[in-house]
Amino acid sequence: MPFLSYGLVLFGLYLTSHYDYLLFHSLTEIFSIVVGCSIFIVAWNSRQRLDNDFFLFLGIAFLFVSCIDLAHTLAYKGMGVFPGYDANLPTQLWIAARYCQSLSLLVSPLFLRRRLNTYLVFAVYTVVIAGVLAAIFANVFPACFLEGVGLTPFKKISEYIISVMFLASIALLLRKRTAFDPNVLQWLVASLTLTIGAEVAFTFYVSVYGLSNLVGHFFKLIAFYFLYIAIVEMGLEKPQRVLLKNLKQNEKALQKALKDVQWLAITDPLTGLYNQRHFPKVAETEVQRTCRYGHPLSAIMLDIDHFKRVNDTYGHTVGDHLLQGVAESLRQELRGVDVIGRYGGDEFAIMLPESDLAVAKKVAGRLREAIALRKLNTAKGPVAVTASLGVTSVDCENPTLEDLLSRADKALYVAKRRGRNRVCTG
Ligand code: GH3
Ligand code: MG
Repeated sequence: MPFLSYGLVLFGLYLTSHYDYLLFHSLTEIFSIVVGCSIFIVAWNSRQRLDNDFFLFLGIAFLFVSCIDLAHTLAYKGMGVFPGYDANLPTQLWIAARYCQSLSLLVSPLFLRRRLNTYLVFAVYTVVIAGVLAAIFANVFPACFLEGVGLTPFKKISEYIISVMFLASIALLLRKRTAFDPNVLQWLVASLTLTIGAEVAFTFYVSVYGLSNLVGHFFKLIAFYFLYIAIVEMGLEKPQRVLLKNLKQNEKALQKALKDVQWLAITDPLTGLYNQRHFPKVAETEVQRTCRYGHPLSAIMLDIDHFKRVNDTYGHTVGDHLLQGVAESLRQELRGVDVIGRYGGDEFAIMLPESDLAVAKKVAGRLREAIALRKLNTAKGPVAVTASLGVTSVDCENPTLEDLLSRADKALYVAKRRGRNRVCTG
């Protein structure tokens, strides 16, 4: 789409050149001046984010090139801005701008690795350009165009020297190609090639309103557009967008990693239940809350029966799957408000908020049944385990988690002693 609209602009300009060449010339030059200034503005505002000063240097160079091009546009034959000067003045200004452009491009690869002293660069350009402009306006600068005769040898030779400098910059850029994004390099080389085309076209003209002048200006117009794509769109904007995108992706990945770490810190990786470190923290707040508001709270300690034997007979992996099965049964049988933790190897602890001892005993019975009914298919046939459970309720005379769990543990010990696969209260 941008190419189509750009094509339409070019066609419009071509039609304009038939209607009024001076208007055509002003519009094309203004376009390249705007592009040159845009390169400077974008490069200047991105300078802190860039990892080398190549684009910044080119930006500053093109600001000065644009200044001379502006003088060239205003001095063009028929503009009447500088009375007393003929077509030699715009041609001299043109050649000065091209020298400035080609020399800048030639030294620009230096700043791929080196940092730039911005103020020094500004000072050097200001002094040199001011000197050249003064020489031109004072008629000291070599003549470039003689009315009725055409281009002087100085102008023609200069265009060839400038073309060779552009060619050398292409070669230099290609030698340093690893320092560039391939897209940037491609557009830069395309722009420079067209610039050389423009220079060659400008060696031919006899009249400043002639065909080769028209072709030269067209080449220059497209060359500047390519330069804009290379520097602003590819060199400066795209990397920022890529950077921002990467930054957002990294932020998301970091947030996910943080969540994973938080989850790992509180969870037992085998069963997905609260681990031994986190369970007491949640359980303790339940104990505190229940006694403050006078609500019931019960606890269950659960231990798998003869689990060592199961491990020895079926192997540790089967043991792991059985542990996961028990955790699954607990999750299925309990409510969302209940707090479940893996307390040790084959031991689980459960807090039942809003449940008195009678309710807790029923719940424990249900858990015992669910565990005993769950079967795991193994190579040696189906396996099931049983569990012993000790149940107790909070004593608000001594509202500590330690007391609650130690009483539940004692009840569990009684259940084991009485033959396992049973629920005892304490
Ligand atoms: P009891 O009925 O008296 O509880 O007998 P038991 O064999 O279950 O004895 P105890 O509870 O003391 O033994 C727990 C066993 O659980 C010891 C260990 O081999 C096993 N175990 C602990 N953690 C894991 C685990 O992560 N995976 C597996 N597969 N086994 C575990
Ligand atoms: Mg056990």
